[in-house]
Amino acid sequence: MVNETVHKELLKKYRAHFGRDPEVVAYAPGRIEVLGNHTDYNEGFVFSAAINFGTFFAASKCETTGCHLVAGDLMKEVSFDLQHIEASKTDTWQNYVKGTLAGLAGVKAPSCGFDGMFFGNIPLGSGLSSSAALEMCAGLALGQLYGISVDTVTLAKIGQKAEHDYAGCNCGLLDQISSLAGQAGKLVKTDFRSVAFETAELGADACFLMCNTHAKHALVDGAYNKLRASCEQAAAHFAKVLRHPVKALRDVSMAEWAIYKRDLPEAVANRAAHPIGEDERVLKGAELLAKGDLPGFGALMFDSHESSRVLFENSCEELDAVVDAAKKIPGVLGARLSGGGFGGSVVVLVHPRDAETASIALANAYAAKFGKPCDVSVIKPAAGARVLK
Ligand code: ADP
Ligand code: MG
Repeated sequence: MVNETVHKELLKKYRAHFGRDPEVVAYAPGRIEVLGNHTDYNEGFVFSAAINFGTFFAASKCETTGCHLVAGDLMKEVSFDLQHIEASKTDTWQNYVKGTLAGLAGVKAPSCGFDGMFFGNIPLGSGLSSSAALEMCAGLALGQLYGISVDTVTLAKIGQKAEHDYAGCNCGLLDQISSLAGQAGKLVKTDFRSVAFETAELGADACFLMCNTHAKHALVDGAYNKLRASCEQAAAHFAKVLRHPVKALRDVSMAEWAIYKRDLPEAVANRAAHPIGEDERVLKGAELLAKGDLPGFGALMFDSHESSRVLFENSCEELDAVVDAAKKIPGVLGARLSGGGFGGSVVVLVHPRDAETASIALANAYAAKFGKPCDVSVIKPAAGARVLK
């Protein structure tokens, strides 16, 4: 179910602004990362979900090569020519759409410009990937408008390239894949070596809380690059000492890590244990979900956070405080940091009947420690991106 109020509001705004109905409308949801942290660039596994918050994109063809793009909630408009799709330093929201359009144009050149508007309800910059949602709804709408059809992975890669080349963010493919492949009540399990994905039933007896601490610790990019370098260093070490091929940490088991870590500096060995352990937790999590064992799955989420805190060291006081509080709240099954770390959000697995009280308890526990509550949203795994008209 898409949010009909947001959808109607977009159509109303589109008519008022462009004086006609859009020819096409597409929708794409945000996403949460549920299990499998820093595993994507180690060619491992991630559990994620598309969520019940998303962005709509409406568009119609123009007679000229002029493109007119409106951010519906800001009611800001930019214009550019199809022949000059360049990133802008001001109104940077346009870059996600421009990058996606440039990617589609690389598949087949659009014949004319467009009148486009997007509007949604994903909180921006809070770990729910509003940027990927914007790319994916723009990609589906403009692809439909111009008759450019691309498969899921190609569209996800077009969005990723828009982030790299137009928005200056070197992200992996998780956000776009999750937005496209999500299904109601299901998690998406992606293998980042083959970029193959499948869904796993979560069931109606669980939903998530996303707790945004708004904490942002300095040196995020530097720290991220250092962690990545440690993973690569460890993978190169295991490639030398193990008899089977090791291309990435994905190829190393925890048992092998325990035996062969000794020649690595302790800090590097600890860093490597995190993505290796996360891969094993995702695979174990898939088995538990298949049996309907939600408490078991939740316990893996707590383990994941502990691994971040102790081994990978990408947690922080604020995230730890939310997870510690979550452990004491009735109905909470699991909690862990979600995304890069060093601040941002904690994802909590909870029985839907307890979601409301747990949200209040988490916000209060956070406020008691830090003087202001964290923002808590109730998240349900929802259907992925699609063309609506
Ligand atoms: P996240 O993807 O976690 O929400 P990012 O910083 O990657 O955070 O992307 C947020 C940016 O995406 C915003 O600052 C804005 O430029 C753009 N954006 C996404 N959705 C919208 C929207 N509905 N309206 C305006 N800008 C948007
Ligand atoms: Mg983003």
